[in-house]
Amino acid sequence: MSELAALNITYLPGVGPKKAELLQKELKIASYEDLLYYFPYKYVDRSKFYSIREVNSKLAYIQVKGRFTSLKTVGTGRQSRLTGMFSDGTGIIELVWFKGHKYIKENIDPNAEYIIFGKPTAFNGQFNIVHPEMDKVENGQVKISAALQAFYNTTEKMKKGFLNSKAIQKLQQNVFLSFQGKIPETLPAFIIQKYKLLQLHESLKVIHFPPNTQILEKAQFRLKFEELFYIQLNILKQRNQRGRNIKGHNFSVVGDYLNSFYQQKLPFELTNAQKRVIKEIRRDMGSGKQMNRLLQGDVGSGKTLVALMVMLISLDNNFQTCLMAPTEILATQHFETISEMLEGLNVTCALLTGSTKKAERNRIDAELTSGQLQILIGTHALLEDKVKFNNLGLVVIDEQHRFGVAQRAKLWRKNHQPPHILVMTATPIPRTLAMTIYGDLDVSVIDELPPGRKPIETAHYFHNRRNNLNKFIKGELDKGRQVYVVYPLIDESEKMDFKNLAEGYEYMQRVFSDYKVSMVHGKMKPAEKDEAMQIFSSGQSQILVSTTVIEVGVNVPNASVMVIESAERFGLSQLHQLRGRVGRGAEQSYCILMTSYKLSEDTRKRMDIMTRSTDGFEIAEADLKLRGPGDLEGTQQSGLPFSLKIANLGKDGQILQFARQVAEAILNEDPYLEKEEHRILNKQLTKLSREKMNWSLIS
Ligand code: ADP
Ligand code: MG
Repeated sequence: MSELAALNITYLPGVGPKKAELLQKELKIASYEDLLYYFPYKYVDRSKFYSIREVNSKLAYIQVKGRFTSLKTVGTGRQSRLTGMFSDGTGIIELVWFKGHKYIKENIDPNAEYIIFGKPTAFNGQFNIVHPEMDKVENGQVKISAALQAFYNTTEKMKKGFLNSKAIQKLQQNVFLSFQGKIPETLPAFIIQKYKLLQLHESLKVIHFPPNTQILEKAQFRLKFEELFYIQLNILKQRNQRGRNIKGHNFSVVGDYLNSFYQQKLPFELTNAQKRVIKEIRRDMGSGKQMNRLLQGDVGSGKTLVALMVMLISLDNNFQTCLMAPTEILATQHFETISEMLEGLNVTCALLTGSTKKAERNRIDAELTSGQLQILIGTHALLEDKVKFNNLGLVVIDEQHRFGVAQRAKLWRKNHQPPHILVMTATPIPRTLAMTIYGDLDVSVIDELPPGRKPIETAHYFHNRRNNLNKFIKGELDKGRQVYVVYPLIDESEKMDFKNLAEGYEYMQRVFSDYKVSMVHGKMKPAEKDEAMQIFSSGQSQILVSTTVIEVGVNVPNASVMVIESAERFGLSQLHQLRGRVGRGAEQSYCILMTSYKLSEDTRKRMDIMTRSTDGFEIAEADLKLRGPGDLEGTQQSGLPFSLKIANLGKDGQILQFARQVAEAILNEDPYLEKEEHRILNKQLTKLSREKMNWSLIS
């Protein structure tokens, strides 16, 4: 549909330079096509009329037909408003205008019948509608024909520039009126026929002007399908090509390193899930192809151990390996755990972070290049160009959601033949989302926790129960346990957060004066942070007041209480992650979510799910449903490499599945999309990859 994409929005009847600028600035709408693909966010049924007697405050919108019985201006000057009494014979409703009332007053015909549409609010025992939509009924005929009225999101600036939802709808109409001919189809004809999809032209018309819900659903289905289909086609096509083009190191040997670790050092029996996952990874690494695998496992499921064993396989095959973590604290902890587990095995292992000293750094660089250093653990510092390996065979990335896909690609290039890649994430990503973001990765799941863990008990407290909370904390401290208290992230712009954290710190010191309290936050120097963490993890302090810097991976088995302050400010996945910091030892652990009284509907639901479930996957699904993938943590940081205009990964999982199957079938038959009937697919992919520049980074 290049023609519509080439038509500048400025020249659409009803737009002009001023509105064009607004559309461009506020919504990035520059062409006719952009406008057509700006979809409504909701529809309101305008086929139904209410009688005024029926109106109640639960109705979001009402439409009534009747006449004005009186009209008067109240007040003077800028404070004045116009109020009209409107009757349909069953009752009276008040209509109010604060703006533009001179014009309205002069134009209302006291003898005519009107259709009024708007949101009713109860006021002084009567209902009123502020700034209703109003249409005059001509000759007893109802003028409105579209049964469902589309509503579009607009911004304050747009509203001031006379571009409200209704105006956008008018512009949509103008596109159809001024563009002669049919909007060219973007899906192959055989798909449209086979799955009985609506044509693009009709779908776009219906999405803006739906005559009824059935056909609207068909149009939505077609547009969602198309959107998801092309994403899947793109991912799968690239993945196929990589599979063909990129050879992988063949790790055929299981040798001394892994064997002696397994026999001498393994501190516990592996869970069945860990065994299965290790098998899957070994199969990949021995296949001659490059491995690209995502390892999902809930917090505490034992991913680190899996990573270590897999890394030892790399050593057994005479390759170096590295492990990258998102924070210094976590990298250090990995380094310590792993060094300890490898003691006596004659493995060389080093830690590289932003704060590694120059001399140490030089040593690491030299030993890496010579091949003497076998395992390198670190932060983003690993990505720097000067980090050069002799022969890097395997890269493990922990907590992927903190890293962008681009960074993953960077590690690829650390060896002339790309290393195997294992990405580990503790944010259980719902299947639908994994298929989309990580569509190019194979997925392994650790769906079992090590034995003996007691599920964490979670409670939701309002602030007025702080005394109970303190009593409870005291009880746990007296038993010898440790406690986390987490505050929302400190943002550069938000002085409030810091104030809360600092006050919380002082408060805990005052209330628990028999115990030692330490504090960690992201604005501290790494060395200070480490020291504070160290004091807590070694048990010298019993309470740790912190921001979310402790969110990922930190392991203090003796900590049994997690208090989350202002829990309403955290997303579900983040709450779940934080909760995962406790329950790592043998003791019963607890998580307490503190919130204020006033909670939105969504927050209430989040607190409910948290107190009800400890299953990370269930929580992730719920999160996706509640917030949509754009906001889902994990995707936010790495950023979905594309934005969805109509499909919703939380709700449209089935359409996604279907779209993927269709894409797979096509690629099986014609991997390079060379057939005549597939030409349109290639054309669309090229067009989309040009628009959505990040696409190529997904693989
Ligand atoms: P995560 O998956 O969150 O990274 P970790 O690897 O940090 O989990 O493991 C959490 C804790 O469970 C660690 O203390 C680890 O030693 C322990 N652990 C891992 N695997 C097992 C197992 N099979 N049996 C018992 N404990 C285990
Ligand atoms: Mg971990």
